[in-house]
Amino acid sequence: MFLELNVIHHLGVHQMNAPSNDKENSKIPFRFLIKKKDLMGRLGMLNTPRGNVTTPTILPVINPSYQLIPSKELKKIGVEIVITNSYIIYSKPDLQERSRSKGVHQLIDWDGPIVTDSGAYQLMVYGSVDVTNEEIITFQQEMGVDAGIPLDLPITIKDNHEVARQKVEETWKRIQNIPKHFVCPVQGGRFLDLVEWSAKKVRNVQCSYYALGSEVSLLINYKFATVMKNILTSKRYLPYDKAIHLFGAGHPIFFAPAVAAGVDLFDSAAYALFAKDDRYLTVHGTYQLDKLDEFPCSCNTCAIHTPRELLSMDKDDRERLLAWHNIVVTMEEMRRIRQAIRTGKLFQLILERAMTHPEVFESVKILMNDQQVIELDPLSKDAQKETPFSRWAPEVRRHRQLLLDRWYIHSPKLAIFPEALQHQLFSVSGTQIAFSSHVFGLIPFELRWTYPLSQWERIDRVDVQDLRNWLLKIQEKFERIILVGEEFSDLKRLELEGAELEIVDSLEILPLKADKNWAMNEIKGILAYQYGIEPPEQLHLKFEFGSTKRIRRFRDKNTGKLLGTIRPQDGYIVPKYPLGVTLYELGTNKYVKISELAAEEVAKKRNVFCKHVTEVGDVLAGDEVIVLNEKGVPIAVGKSSLARSEMLDFKRGEAISVRDAVGKYE
Ligand SMILES: [Zn+2]
Repeated sequence: MFLELNVIHHLGVHQMNAPSNDKENSKIPFRFLIKKKDLMGRLGMLNTPRGNVTTPTILPVINPSYQLIPSKELKKIGVEIVITNSYIIYSKPDLQERSRSKGVHQLIDWDGPIVTDSGAYQLMVYGSVDVTNEEIITFQQEMGVDAGIPLDLPITIKDNHEVARQKVEETWKRIQNIPKHFVCPVQGGRFLDLVEWSAKKVRNVQCSYYALGSEVSLLINYKFATVMKNILTSKRYLPYDKAIHLFGAGHPIFFAPAVAAGVDLFDSAAYALFAKDDRYLTVHGTYQLDKLDEFPCSCNTCAIHTPRELLSMDKDDRERLLAWHNIVVTMEEMRRIRQAIRTGKLFQLILERAMTHPEVFESVKILMNDQQVIELDPLSKDAQKETPFSRWAPEVRRHRQLLLDRWYIHSPKLAIFPEALQHQLFSVSGTQIAFSSHVFGLIPFELRWTYPLSQWERIDRVDVQDLRNWLLKIQEKFERIILVGEEFSDLKRLELEGAELEIVDSLEILPLKADKNWAMNEIKGILAYQYGIEPPEQLHLKFEFGSTKRIRRFRDKNTGKLLGTIRPQDGYIVPKYPLGVTLYELGTNKYVKISELAAEEVAKKRNVFCKHVTEVGDVLAGDEVIVLNEKGVPIAVGKSSLARSEMLDFKRGEAISVRDAVGKYE
């Protein structure tokens, strides 16, 4: 036992000091952590034995016999991980010999992480390969690859369901004994039932990450909508704590939509293959070089040369210069996507890409209609901008679903004003106020600063048809509804059965302070919306106002103890521990249960780690949640960094940053 421990210790130290040329190092599966989320997209970190890789990213395909762009040049433009083909190396005796003796890293002159493909592509193109699954797995290990791939059977667009099913089953047999640092393929092609079968089977396989295979022929034929369905089906069954690689997707027009669906890794042979055929890649599509009069780019190729100059060059020079441009725009799009995730602008970016091709548009539509986006998109983000597709946005869909169930009603009378008045502070005697919004439907006065209702830049206009539908849905909640403003004159003929409807040009408005309950109603309104609870009639609160007139803090009127604050950036309430207890007693499902192992520390305000989470309510990333011990007793409150299903899948990383806790734990 002592000896074993020593060996492990030795390897650990060795790994830190000398990451190269040690085949033992390669036997650790990659680990994945999420840093920031937007839609289903993850800005992540892949820990590999040869350094960290920021995701989403692309693995350029390196030809083991000839490097069109030297690997050192790739490193300069931000490439952190590459992929090469073990079958090509295996089938050329000199390469095979060199890779066995010196290792694959020296063979392709790359000291970062290397993934190798197994010959599945050749199998798809030529129908057979001259190697068995066992042989190619062993060979990949012998040359010291960081993550290899078994010889899976790719499904082509011509395969019928029966043929595809046989291939999926055979691939599953080949996966079962892969080394734990290998990549695990998910198969099924366009047959979603097979994708589901495959994803469920591989869910518990130990591996470095998952790769969605069988997409190459779909991608070559621009079947992005089908690929999107395939990604979403896989995501439903694969664990969230592993990265996902979309195999063969090297065209930048589809990177952003695929990332938004939860893909973390791509590979690109396209940069070189397209260059060979004089094709010029852009995020808006591909151009044939002789059809271009000017280059819409400023990379080293495009800023110095014109298309005409390139056409007059030697084939080899032209190919190299075009490949350079193609890989530069590929890496540039990855940086743009990562920055979009950091700033919550991924939705805007995928809409831009949706305009490039009808299949991309369709794929974005499919993604935005999937329930998983609603569950995984974070609670709030930075400012957004209205577009004709804003109602697809998860936060907009969420609001339009939630409001009907979670609207805190405190008066039988409702006055609806145009959106332009949303930020004016006023009251109407004995009447609840809402604003009609083109994007959101209705915005209650109490939620006027809550995300996304205030943070969206938008055009102020009334969607009469939409408002009519809202009135029909809410008529039972009020006795009288008054529409205030000539903007609503088109609704004159509408009659409601549940409530009396009136349209007036103006209504007497009073200063906000004329309504002595407004602050109390606002707190109750936000609590009901945020926590899905019925706020208690009696809340004894004392308010403190900030300079912007937004309520900043509220205290218990009797004890003077702080109960909560309103987050200025998104208008949600951050409760202190005692309010958390009340909310839990009122039945909120914004809770996270943790194991007894961690309870004592968390009760002292230590953060909650994913590995200690045992049960999660209806929680989004960014939600303010109540932390319970194993017996279901609230012990802390804090902000979740992940959504429900992610928290349950991850075994590493932080789940909740605890803000306040009970203190003493018994
Ligand atoms: Zn360029």
